[in-house]
Amino acid sequence: MRWENERRSQNVEDRRGQKGRARNGLGKSAGFPIPLKGKSGLAILVIVIAAGYFGLDLTPILNGELPFGNQQSQQGQTQYVATPEEKEMAEFTSVALAKTEDLWIARFREQGMQYREPTLVMYSGSTNTACGYGQAAMGPFYCPADEKVYLDLSFYQDMKRNLGGGGDFAQGYVIAHEIGHHVQHLLGVTTKMREMQSRVNQVEANKLSVKLELQADCFAGIWGRSIQDQNLLDVSDISEAMNTAAAIGDDRLQKQARGTVVPDSFTHGTSKERQEWFMRGFNTGSIQACDTFSQR
Ligand SMILES: [Zn+2]
Repeated sequence: MRWENERRSQNVEDRRGQKGRARNGLGKSAGFPIPLKGKSGLAILVIVIAAGYFGLDLTPILNGELPFGNQQSQQGQTQYVATPEEKEMAEFTSVALAKTEDLWIARFREQGMQYREPTLVMYSGSTNTACGYGQAAMGPFYCPADEKVYLDLSFYQDMKRNLGGGGDFAQGYVIAHEIGHHVQHLLGVTTKMREMQSRVNQVEANKLSVKLELQADCFAGIWGRSIQDQNLLDVSDISEAMNTAAAIGDDRLQKQARGTVVPDSFTHGTSKERQEWFMRGFNTGSIQACDTFSQR
């Protein structure tokens, strides 16, 4: 993908070098975890309240990761030094995110709706989220409760080593898939799907989960199409995305992990299904064509 001269997103939150701290009751609004000790605590509280007026994002502060003041006493605050390769991956991530913004702002506008831009959090190792404690081993994920995508850049390395080779467009596919979950959240698909899941058994619930995931793949395909329409695709890009889709299919992953495949336990779809739905989004560029729920 030819991305170097393209716009960077303003919605990247860089938490690399900060350590998340596991707390109890995460995801259930665990109170107000600011260390209110002495004057500095009070000062922070004042700043938090003042910043609230201006709509600033104080998540790092609320998580106990202070960007100013007595950093010496804060654990886990280390200067993060990115390798040149990581720098490039972070730059690319920012461009890929900006491309999802351009795409979905326009698409929502066509439907008379407004797209709310999500934040992409880059972190290293672990971090706190409104959906619980995020760890790199979980892979990239989207949290609807805070409308943020969480990405540890080491996932890109994993992709390169274990998941079909990687490449920039493959990374873009992963980002576009996670943003696809944000789109589903905004369209109300996620809530509806969770309601449906609560009324059925595990096997049926898994099938619904597969439909949600394949729709996110299809939305990623629409993103890929928008990249093509801007003449930014390289010849190898589509095969990069296809390799990745194949590598992260449930059947492939299960075969690797335990040697057998249990289709009833699939939650993301097979390699073939993931490829097909990505290509459907890519070929049609149409949200309607991504209706995985009315299929079969
Ligand atoms: Zn997903």
